Amino acid sequence: MEYISTRGEAPAAYFEEVLLRGLAPDGGLYVPRAWPHLSRGEIEALRGLSYADLAAALLAPFVGEAVAPGDLERILADGAAAMGHAAVTPLVQLDERTFLLELFHGPTLAFKDVALQLLGRLFAHVLERRGEALTILGATSGDTGSAAIEAVRGRANMEIFILHPKDRVSRIQRLQMTTVAEPNVHNIALEGTFDDCQAIVKALFADADLRDELALSSINSINWARIMAQIVYYFASALALGAPERPVAFSVPTGNFGDVYAGYAAARMGLPVERLLVATNVNDILERALRTGEYEVRDVVATMSPSMDIQVASNFERLLFDAHDRNARSVQALMARLRETGRFTIDEPALATMRAHFSAARVSEEATLGAMRRAWTGAGELVDPHTAVALAALDSQPFGREVARVVLATAHPAKFPDPVEKATGVRPALPARLAGLEERAESFAVLPNDVSAVRDFLRRARAPR
Ligand SMILES: *Cc1c(COP(=O)(O)O)cnc(C)c1O
Repeated sequence: MEYISTRGEAPAAYFEEVLLRGLAPDGGLYVPRAWPHLSRGEIEALRGLSYADLAAALLAPFVGEAVAPGDLERILADGAAAMGHAAVTPLVQLDERTFLLELFHGPTLAFKDVALQLLGRLFAHVLERRGEALTILGATSGDTGSAAIEAVRGRANMEIFILHPKDRVSRIQRLQMTTVAEPNVHNIALEGTFDDCQAIVKALFADADLRDELALSSINSINWARIMAQIVYYFASALALGAPERPVAFSVPTGNFGDVYAGYAAARMGLPVERLLVATNVNDILERALRTGEYEVRDVVATMSPSMDIQVASNFERLLFDAHDRNARSVQALMARLRETGRFTIDEPALATMRAHFSAARVSEEATLGAMRRAWTGAGELVDPHTAVALAALDSQPFGREVARVVLATAHPAKFPDPVEKATGVRPALPARLAGLEERAESFAVLPNDVSAVRDFLRRARAPR
């Protein structure tokens, strides 16, 4: 499988390069040159496979020759085992036709583990074969940092530095990062905001000397391998609910558009998907874009579902590319307009292409609390605020009785105990696996909001190679 860039000016690349690079050199995002397609019979034949075997069948064409088949199967089996549930991504029934797809049984209790547990292993494998090592650098407002740290901890050929804004992440989120006692894990509490953290990370990536010296890399959500990993649970859940005979609709709590785009990829691969519902909180850039065609950046509002508090949805560029018949010039023009004016307009034909797959709904904070309350009183299920946004979004959708409705449950309720308690009166307990988190020793450096202070720290703290 060859990959091309959405901006059209980077040479085509194979999986290994796509994995290690993340962003294409022309600033675009990598997408497969063509979507692999499974016939109805081939999809039926996937029924009953274990999650790891299903992943191997679906992902082998994307990985190509970068990883030998036996190695890929082992990596996928290890990644599935790390997810902490025998079904990896189990379904839980809420009513006659509504199901939660629980993606939060991994080490940090959020869905990002599903992809990052695989990514960490793929990186380690490829680096070992190449005899190389690298340094992962990233900023986090909470969830991504811990998932990345868990994915990389203890690996010989990878080191990780994560910046978080000091005193501005939740206590649980901080402990999940700072109690990981491994010599290759470095936490930095920056005296600033999340935007300051991101600005420093960006400045350090722009420093060519440092980038070469430390072999800097990132595993952020625009990496194709993360999208690829997420395709699997769309197939797994749809097959379990009777696909391809029975139509399945997915409601996806959406921020950066990575998760729901993986659902689109599954549909392009042949999975019958009735509809992909883009569920946003009041940070509704995607809902507005799909409803009006105007993609316009506004200020971010803090909500109960912080992982969806976004300004721009980076992965949306991948959909724009397909919706413009893969014309990279069109994508370039839209992205230039966004840079210059903070907005762009999607033309009617492209919008129609998008609406053939996607609907969107914006969910208020009140409706989010209401959905948490209903899941608790109606089905005895505690759901986190991100999941609740997707649940509430279904109210606006007139799906037929025959359609199974799957809500992607992206975080464990215990990760967001305050809003859950506010809605239901019940404070969710941390799973036994995380018991004792509060007693573990923390390790992190407090640094001023200053690029050179962080640069010096990276050089000093790095383990000798
Ligand atoms: C990251 C995240 C999301 C948003 O996923 P995208 O792929 O960025 O759209 C939703 N819920 C939770 C809990 C998350 O951590």
